[in-house]
Amino acid sequence: MNPELEELYQEVILDHSRRPRNFGELTDATVRVHGDNPACGDEIDLAVKFADDGAFEQIKFTGQGCAISQASASMMTQKVKGKTRDDAASMLRAFHDLVTQGGDDEPTMLGDVQLLRGVRKFPQRVKCAMLAWRALEQALEQQNGEATVSTEVET
Ligand code: ZN
Repeated sequence: MNPELEELYQEVILDHSRRPRNFGELTDATVRVHGDNPACGDEIDLAVKFADDGAFEQIKFTGQGCAISQASASMMTQKVKGKTRDDAASMLRAFHDLVTQGGDDEPTMLGDVQLLRGVRKFPQRVKCAMLAWRALEQALEQQNGEATVSTEVET
């Protein structure tokens, strides 16, 4: 395997795709967002329960698609759970910079999520990695209810 693909499909990422964390239904969700990445065929359904103070009390997802899309969703939910909206919005910006520009090697608030920086070398995979975060972005904009987002529409 070439080194760029090795960076993309690291063990931690593969582990998240095989055993996604926070995977399942959330019956008392405040916000539900369906995300589509038609370029690859990835789909996720993100469900968030916001606490009274606006923090991410619970976050779960279901979905299907490539390893990167599902691993990214798993890692995102793990990272955002329990955080405030402001923290989640900061992570969203940091992740976007990471997968489009590569960020730097300094540890950041993203932790393990930084392992996904390998996608920047594969433009089609950037959409896969961003899918869950686009859904998160939409969830942040909603107080409640349901919405749909697509990686094919610039936000
Ligand atoms: Zn994909």
